[in-house]
Amino acid sequence: MSKLPPWLRRPWPAGHGFQHTHETLESLRLETICTNANCPNRGECWGRGTATVLILGNVCARNCGFCSVATGEPAPPDPTEPARLADMARRMEIKYLVITSVDRDDLPDGGAGHFRDCVNEVRRQCPAMRFEILTPDFKDCQEQALEILQDALPFVFAHNVETVPALYPRARVGGSYQRSLQLLRLARDRCPGLQTKSSLMLGLGETDREVEQVLRDLRDAGCDRLTIGQYLKPAQDALDVVEYVPPEKFAWWKERAQEVGFTWVLSAPFARSSYFAEQENAR
Ligand code: SF4
Repeated sequence: MSKLPPWLRRPWPAGHGFQHTHETLESLRLETICTNANCPNRGECWGRGTATVLILGNVCARNCGFCSVATGEPAPPDPTEPARLADMARRMEIKYLVITSVDRDDLPDGGAGHFRDCVNEVRRQCPAMRFEILTPDFKDCQEQALEILQDALPFVFAHNVETVPALYPRARVGGSYQRSLQLLRLARDRCPGLQTKSSLMLGLGETDREVEQVLRDLRDAGCDRLTIGQYLKPAQDALDVVEYVPPEKFAWWKERAQEVGFTWVLSAPFARSSYFAEQENAR
């Protein structure tokens, strides 16, 4: 904390709203990416009654260098999870629900069927709900996964490229930049009207030229929405931060992203994929 630049230091608001979110999630045995990824926004988001649910367990089949989610052999999908998720949505009176998952390369459909079941059960109990799903890259089953998701289309389909392709060997072992772009492109082609979204972290050692190219690649893949945030080391054994990018630079990237055609851009040190995702216009 003491090593952080001033713009990354802030209090942890933990009032009644935070406690309510915490207790609801605990009582329903739901996992969140907020906790598993040590997200710095947890105090703020939970305090205002929102959280991003991590379905399909909290053990990931991959071991990305930037991430603190545990790696190992994931458990089978829990058939009670969709109903527990719907319960949470009702108790917390959520209007916009972001659902994500660990990578499930062990499942033939990459977990797409469980995403569908979760969306459909919540939709059955909360018909006005708007959904954003943040999915893994569905490694060998992208076509199949998108076919399955046709039965449970969200408002936003998100998949994160996370960083520039040159850093994939260190940051996203097991991932493929082209495969990630391909998933976004397929989602766009298969589901007209669907908003697609991706996220990028800065501070891992990328160059401006590489970031610029990622923006263009995402737009070429039809991506509509973008978040750009500061990478913060979430665990002792995670990759080190190479650079703390100042807020003005994030503002500059926001302008660049809008210039290349993104219609919704959140670019700020604390921006994360699901941060203020429900806003009509990014802050
Ligand atoms: S930004 Fe997303 S992951 Fe982080 S606390 Fe907020 S909802 Fe959770």
